[in-house]
Order: sequence, then C-alpha cells, then structure tokens
Amino acid sequence: MLIDLTCPNCQHQQEFQIYPEINVSKEPALKNMVFNFQLFKDTCENCEKIIPVAYATIYHDFDQKFIVVLDPTRQKTLTEVNQELEKEFGELKGYTIRLVHNPDDLKEKIQLRDSHYDDRLVEIIKQYYVASALDKNPELKLNAVLFNRGLTHNEIVLITADQQKLSAELNEEILNHLSTLYKKKIAELTLEGANRIDGVWVSHVLETKH
Ligand SMILES: [Zn+2]
Repeated sequence: MLIDLTCPNCQHQQEFQIYPEINVSKEPALKNMVFNFQLFKDTCENCEKIIPVAYATIYHDFDQKFIVVLDPTRQKTLTEVNQELEKEFGELKGYTIRLVHNPDDLKEKIQLRDSHYDDRLVEIIKQYYVASALDKNPELKLNAVLFNRGLTHNEIVLITADQQKLSAELNEEILNHLSTLYKKKIAELTLEGANRIDGVWVSHVLETKH
C-alpha cells in the first residue's frame, strides 16, 4: 500500500510503501526489511534526512505459528488484538502471539523466535543484566534493553540515555536456572491469545513468590 509521506525537515512529499501485513511465509524477503528497519523509515529525496514511518502492522510466520502485532499508537488492548486476529485468520490454535509498540521490539521478538528462545525468559533475564549494570554504576540511566542475535553469540544490549551500548553475552546457564525457577509463574501469567511480554509483565512474575 502506497502512502504520501511529508518530510518533517523540508516538507518535501514522496510516496512510501507500507505493509499492513508482513507475511514472511509468503514473502521471506520482508524479514530482512524488518531487521534493517527498511519497512519503517525512508530517506527524503530532497534533503536526504531519514524519515521514520510508524504504522500498525501484523507480522506473521505461519510455519512457526508465530504472530507479532505492532501497534505504535499503544492504544490497542489484548482483547482488541485477539478479536482483530480472529476476524482476519479465524482460530489460531497453538500460536504464540505478541503485542509490541515499536519496530525495535518487533525485531527482537522475531530474532528470539528464530533463535528458539522463550522471550518470556529473556525478558526476565534482562532484569539481571540491568541490576548488575546498576550495581557497577548506580548513576546509569537506561533507555532500552534488547536481545541481539549476533554472528558468533547472542547478547543482551543495554542502551543508555546518551545512546551508548553496553553488551554482554547471554548467559544460557542463568537462563536455564530461571526457567526452572519461574516455570509455574510464567505459565500462570501467560494469557490465551495475545500477550504483551515486557518489563511490566516481568514485574508481575517477580513480585509474587513462586
Ligand atoms: Zn526532506
């Protein structure tokens, strides 16, 4: 679908193709365009500045029974997401469905799925990396914490308020330990259909005794 894009810098108008559905089972090439954010930004033909483009989309990978709903407005509830998906695809038995609010989180969810990690556990382990970074530097201000699939190893990347990146290798041993420790809690707090698995969700996992 083509939309008209106005450059916020120079007001130049150009067309941009958006994808309200990203079906990687049908069009595998789209996955890389999610990973390099090509689907969510354009370069102004006039002033050459990058124009970020936010829009709602549904990423689906039927082969992996995996769906991620991107809602940049942050307005959609999980119930609305479930209703929307059921209308579109019918009953989605055995699917893992996630709701995210930005392209970074969309990319992260896909990378985790492709590397066969449980995003719920990885979301929990992030708290350990944050705690240990804050231990070393209590003044540290963080903007985001992301999983990154590297060529040789997987890592957790802490992005600071001044856009510095601190990365550490993902510790599989701790991950396995957390899996045993929080198995029951994780199952209890995972809803039928769509889930929003983020820091808020983790705080619910960690706040109650297991
Ligand atoms: Zn421009």
